[in-house]
Amino acid sequence: MKMKKSILLTSLFVLFFLGTNAQQSTATKKPKIVLITLDGFRWQELFAGADANLIENKEYVHNAAELKTKFWRNTATERRAVLMPFLWNEVIKMGQLHGNRNEGSNVNLTNSMWFSYPGYNEILTGSPDDKRINSNDKFNNPNTTVLEKINNLPKYNGKVAAFGSWDVFPYIINEERSGIPVNAGFEAATGSNLSANEIFLNELQEQIPSPFSTVRLDAFTSHYTLEYMKKEHPELVYISYGETDDFAHEGNYDAYLKSANNTDGLIKELWNYTQNDPFYKDNTLFIISTDHGRGTQPIDTWKDHGSKIKGADQVWLVVFGKGVDVLGEVTKTEQLFSTQIAPTVLQVLAPTVKNAEMKGKSLEVFKN
Ligand SMILES: [Zn+2]
Repeated sequence: MKMKKSILLTSLFVLFFLGTNAQQSTATKKPKIVLITLDGFRWQELFAGADANLIENKEYVHNAAELKTKFWRNTATERRAVLMPFLWNEVIKMGQLHGNRNEGSNVNLTNSMWFSYPGYNEILTGSPDDKRINSNDKFNNPNTTVLEKINNLPKYNGKVAAFGSWDVFPYIINEERSGIPVNAGFEAATGSNLSANEIFLNELQEQIPSPFSTVRLDAFTSHYTLEYMKKEHPELVYISYGETDDFAHEGNYDAYLKSANNTDGLIKELWNYTQNDPFYKDNTLFIISTDHGRGTQPIDTWKDHGSKIKGADQVWLVVFGKGVDVLGEVTKTEQLFSTQIAPTVLQVLAPTVKNAEMKGKSLEVFKN
């Protein structure tokens, strides 16, 4: 009797441990995604750093000496590394950077508007919609974003969140219909379990005026995201930084470069956090892009975008993290499109869900 009892107990223990191990491994195998955009940041600066035609331009640069000390170097390779050190010292060794047209790598929008709402709609839904998405007005998106598609799946319901510096994001993501929490514009963190940092961020956001009327400073967007990730552990997060576009419209090249540099650091902070939290560690994919490009010729068109600005449909794409093949800077001839981002998110998180209505096809960026 005794023998049998101990065998039974041992078997129960074995079964118990096998069971929990299996559960744990399915939970950790479920990949997470952090999708990031930098509004209107040009591929020209991403791949070549500070622009020789702008760095000393009296009209667009307030303090050329200071700006040159910070961001001017003799070669494009050195300039981009001082502008975005995380991307060019770390991401280059663990991911892929697409969109350097000087090397033949092209990434383009397929919508013909070349401004923000149509760009975000294209990135988030996988299709352009020139008929219906042709202004930046605050109207609820009739299209379903990949964020909403994922959030509608039982296994991801309540596990998707979005943060934006621009106050139009609750409409682009259709917060009302999708039920996805969107903290954008000058919204504070809300809820009954605010962290000490969230309470402090809410205070600071009131006390540090933004230079823009509809866009907050990106540090707020980034830290609200980070706090939410620590607390709620969303499995799909979208973060939209906004400063680069607004400073460019103002013709403030100093601030445009400083913002790009700062955002690189904010992204590094998010990445480092994910690699120190067992929930995300070694299992999180980062995808970074932009909603549109800007002009180059004549030089004044660097400030602008839209269908009349040549080259404003030229964008870029950076991927790294879970499963991504390490290619570094892509220097082969290729043509990618912004419509490929949403199908990639769907493919990674929910490979069995059909994406028939998405125009782009999933990116081939993963190890076999
Ligand atoms: Zn703009």
